Amino acid sequence: MIGRERSKKSLLEAFHKDKLVLLSMEKDGGGVCSVGTLAKILQLHRLPDDTLKVLMQGETRVEITEETDVEGVLLASYQTLSLEDGEDSELLLEVQKQLRRLFEMDTQYPKELRNTIEKLTKADDLIDTMVAVLQLEASAKQTFLEEQNSLNRIQLFRETLQQELMNLEISRKIERNIKGQMESNQREYYLNEKKKAISRELGDDDSDQEWDDYQSKIDAISLSTEAKKKAEKELLRLKRMNPVGAEATVSRNYLDWILALPWSDKNQEDVHLLDAKKVLDAEHFALEEIKDRILEHLAVQKCSDDPQQPILCFLGPPGIGKTSLVRSIAKATKRAYVRQALGGVRDEAEIRGHRRTYIGAMPGKIIQGISRAGTGNPVFLLDEIDKMSGDFHHGDPAAALLEALDFEQNHSFRDHFLDLDYDLSSVFFICTANSLDGIPAPLQDRLEIIELSSYTEEEKLQIATQHLIPKQRRMHALSQEQFSVSEDAIRMLIRRYSREAGVRNLERLIAKGCRKLCRMIVEGEKGDQLHVSETDIVTVYGAPKYFDRQIGASSKIGVMNGLAVTTVGGMVLKIEALCLPGEGKIQLTGRLGDWLKESAHAGISFLRSQTDSIRLDVDFHKKHDFHIHYPGNPAKADGPSAGVAMCMAVLSAITRKAIPETIAITGEISLGGEVLAVGGIKEKLLAAHRQGIQRVFIPLENEGDLQKIPKEVLCELEISLVERVESVIESIFET
Ligand code: ADP
Repeated sequence: MIGRERSKKSLLEAFHKDKLVLLSMEKDGGGVCSVGTLAKILQLHRLPDDTLKVLMQGETRVEITEETDVEGVLLASYQTLSLEDGEDSELLLEVQKQLRRLFEMDTQYPKELRNTIEKLTKADDLIDTMVAVLQLEASAKQTFLEEQNSLNRIQLFRETLQQELMNLEISRKIERNIKGQMESNQREYYLNEKKKAISRELGDDDSDQEWDDYQSKIDAISLSTEAKKKAEKELLRLKRMNPVGAEATVSRNYLDWILALPWSDKNQEDVHLLDAKKVLDAEHFALEEIKDRILEHLAVQKCSDDPQQPILCFLGPPGIGKTSLVRSIAKATKRAYVRQALGGVRDEAEIRGHRRTYIGAMPGKIIQGISRAGTGNPVFLLDEIDKMSGDFHHGDPAAALLEALDFEQNHSFRDHFLDLDYDLSSVFFICTANSLDGIPAPLQDRLEIIELSSYTEEEKLQIATQHLIPKQRRMHALSQEQFSVSEDAIRMLIRRYSREAGVRNLERLIAKGCRKLCRMIVEGEKGDQLHVSETDIVTVYGAPKYFDRQIGASSKIGVMNGLAVTTVGGMVLKIEALCLPGEGKIQLTGRLGDWLKESAHAGISFLRSQTDSIRLDVDFHKKHDFHIHYPGNPAKADGPSAGVAMCMAVLSAITRKAIPETIAITGEISLGGEVLAVGGIKEKLLAAHRQGIQRVFIPLENEGDLQKIPKEVLCELEISLVERVESVIESIFET
């Protein structure tokens, strides 16, 4: 290029006004490009720092044909180049549009350029002018100088502009994003700072402290990896929230639950079986079989690290010590104790928690219990599992419970609220239930049912003297000299004031005596001692609630004692039958379940089939209506076990032969006259004994159950094992 700076001196000599110079670009690899621009020097200015300012005007594009270096100045021979014509008005219009858009988008181009677009109507002029001002790479500009075909040039120019517009679009988008992000960060920062400033003004800027507290708790507790991640994420969210907003409360609540859970704390278990036995014996009278089973369970736990033992379930009527046994097990195993009542639980979410999107969401009863226990391996009592119910809408709580109890799955129990895996495998779950009926089969399958049955009067007496009275004395801070109940008085309390399977009411009565004495002591008028005896029992407890029936005093026609087991223990149920002139209708009343009704029909059908052998009129059923009634059936007893008893009541009504009141019977009847086995023999016999029955008929098939009956009961009851209804009829009516 002419004017390429070889030396200042040579340049100064070469440049003067009106001189033509050839401007050409240096190539990357050395030398100059062959196509350049011939320009005329219009002005020359020497600046104070000795630089030279040159103003030139381009004349034409030229191609260098030869170049020589003469004393540092490059001299060139050239030939003028002219463009090959070729216009495309549509392309021109498009290019103009692109240029307008470019100048609109990129504000660094002067506004005047927009007017120039309109003025330059020839494509080549437009391209020459614009290429000079556009911010293109020099090599790109050189391409336009070298290209001599106008059509190619304009196409090339269109592509270049398109590329430029695209680049511009992308950079604007990036800029917008960055700006948006910055704005939102700034906004958040600004609001947070403002919030803090307001809090500072109000004197309650403790949010930093609160976050630090949370952070140090997260660091201090050995949370699971998943829990730690969740807690940290939640804390980050909390920091960005309005500290007094509802959302922050939810977030805090969630963090509090996670941090309150025992993730690794476990009570040190060091169970010596003898010590455990001592604890169980000290706190509970009798129940030997159950205590043995508990000790076996503990022994297996001690022997094996991963004993996949069935979950124990204590089954029996209320007040017989199920709950207090579990409490003793916790004490014996030196574990924390926690109880969750499941009675009335209808919703799966009550077990497994509500998702956090619900207002007022909380973890389910399992996680709540663990949190309350404060250790990861408590003895966890699931009380009254037979009282849960589920429906289609609310999910099945039993299924959720099953997951918590299943050792295959419970190392990663997932509560909906926490949304984290929690390991329940070290928890010692024990369930209680009053009856098997309410426990779904899959859950029953997972449980080892241990039956606890009602206490005899003798057992109750022992429990009262050895446990309940000393316990209530301790609770009321009374001494033996101050409070006592005589043996006769305890028997009265058992018989006349608290007819029950367990001892809960008996304990309440004893507590009532203690309270009376406390009041006497505080009032200081009637002395400071209370020794309850049979003679003054009415002054302490008022009139008795129950009276022993005058059993044995009479025999009645159409009345037979049946035996039933309800959730409150066994009971003697009177069954009444009336035989009225009529046409064979059977009416059943007294809040009876379907099973009882069906048994009544089976009994009558059997009698119809046996008219010969029991000497009944063949058409007896056509000439009479039968009414069977269960007076005072408070617990809605149901089941097939009253079949034979109903049959006897009806037979007595038809034959007008009385049945002694001291007799009771239990057994299912088959249409062929067999007496079939029934459940709950122990409860039934204890109830019969309690209520003064002297003779009980039970199915021969139930003979094995007699082993479980306390001796004092067996001594006082005459038990007849029967196989067929005919032998019952013979014993009752023909002796
Ligand atoms: P459940 O859970 O079966 O309804 P609880 O465990 O609440 O019954 O027992 C009621 C009360 O009777 C408790 O104070 C308990 O200590 C006492 N109790 C029950 N059985 C016995 C027993 N065999 N020995 C000593 N106390 C007993």
